[in-house]
Amino acid sequence: MPMGDGFRQRLLPLVAEVADHYGTPFHIYDERGIRETGRALQQAFANLEVFREYYAVKALPNPAILAIMRELGFGFDCSSIAELELSRRIGARGDDLMFTSNNTSREEFLAAAAAGGSILNLDDLTLVDKVPEMPELICFRYNPGAVRTGNDIIGKPEEAKYGVSRDQILPAYLRARERGARRFGLHTMLVSNELNHAYMIDTTRMLLELVEWLSPQLGAPFEFINIGGGLGIPYQPDQQPLDLPALGRGIGELLERFRRRHGTMPALFMESGRFMTGPHGVLVTRAINHKEIYRTYVGVDACMAALMRPALYGAYHHLEVAGAGKDGPEELVDVVGSLCENNDKFAIQRLLPKIEDGDLVLIHDTGAHGHSMGFNYNGRLRTKELLLRCDGSVELIRREETLADHFATLEFPPDLLRPTAGVR
Ligand SMILES: *Cc1c(COP(=O)(O)O)cnc(C)c1O
Repeated sequence: MPMGDGFRQRLLPLVAEVADHYGTPFHIYDERGIRETGRALQQAFANLEVFREYYAVKALPNPAILAIMRELGFGFDCSSIAELELSRRIGARGDDLMFTSNNTSREEFLAAAAAGGSILNLDDLTLVDKVPEMPELICFRYNPGAVRTGNDIIGKPEEAKYGVSRDQILPAYLRARERGARRFGLHTMLVSNELNHAYMIDTTRMLLELVEWLSPQLGAPFEFINIGGGLGIPYQPDQQPLDLPALGRGIGELLERFRRRHGTMPALFMESGRFMTGPHGVLVTRAINHKEIYRTYVGVDACMAALMRPALYGAYHHLEVAGAGKDGPEELVDVVGSLCENNDKFAIQRLLPKIEDGDLVLIHDTGAHGHSMGFNYNGRLRTKELLLRCDGSVELIRREETLADHFATLEFPPDLLRPTAGVR
């Protein structure tokens, strides 16, 4: 079932009052559910020597949420200067921070270095010589190419822009060692929203085999392997959740076998975003229009600026009408936002309880890659974010954007260039 049952039971009785108080639309997140998932993740890997989740900040970059992750003992996987800064603001330091970027600029390297001791995860061989100062501990993102299949969101590894290819991975580490690296980690991320735990176990096996091959040539053990994010959640009602205990057992056996052969095991790192927060968020929006032309359209007060996944990937998000009984009338509808883009739809030809103007529609599983993916096309402003605390209170954790925010980038000192080159 999409959206944790517990969250649903906590939210439904309050949602009308919350909507009246704060106004719609808003994303609301569930602190208790996030903490439960965090503990389940730690429990699944409790028998490893070292396990650490580095929450993928891009999934839900809100300080109130990151503070919960920090309390759980998690680090932060950052891919931009803003994400590094956000993580630092809630107190993350040194190896609490992992910097995994693609197509990295010099400014980003400098920011990662300035964050002091953050773990640098390099995406290409040529970057080894562009890092202004090689840290002692270095990690590369590995792309195995055609030997592994990926999935729809991330694409085939062979066609994906990420990571170091098989023939360049050893040269990459050797070159990093020449530049002063002495400690090593290995990272990969091949899939997104994967529900099959066996795939992640295969990925772990692939990394451990690579470590066994690289380690003797570098003359050093690997301190960690990082299997990336990509753990899936059931967006569709008939999907089974990922079998986390089986994932933990499978990976545990591989690492145990590694220890028997080599006397030590690397730490296991993970960078889940979606799995940690996806099911613990809901976009609450109000129906404002009902239109019948060739199809029936329910217009709501949120648009794809608040949740891009359906438009971007054709992703399914479960929809629920607050207060709708099980046996009431139903209607086949498209649920749409207001953008001048025909793909601004939260549901297409979906049978839902008949929606009247004023009804609250809950769009499930928006706790990851929801608000954070938003944009301002058509001058649409980003929604507010709320947090349902463990004690039952509701807190505003981000206000909605204002027109003043939107126009802020139009305020600047004049800057006119009359080029001296070119035709006059
Ligand atoms: C996006 C991303 C993640 C998180 O992915 P999820 O599907 O949310 O788990 C982790 N690591 C990297 C490098 C990413 O780009």
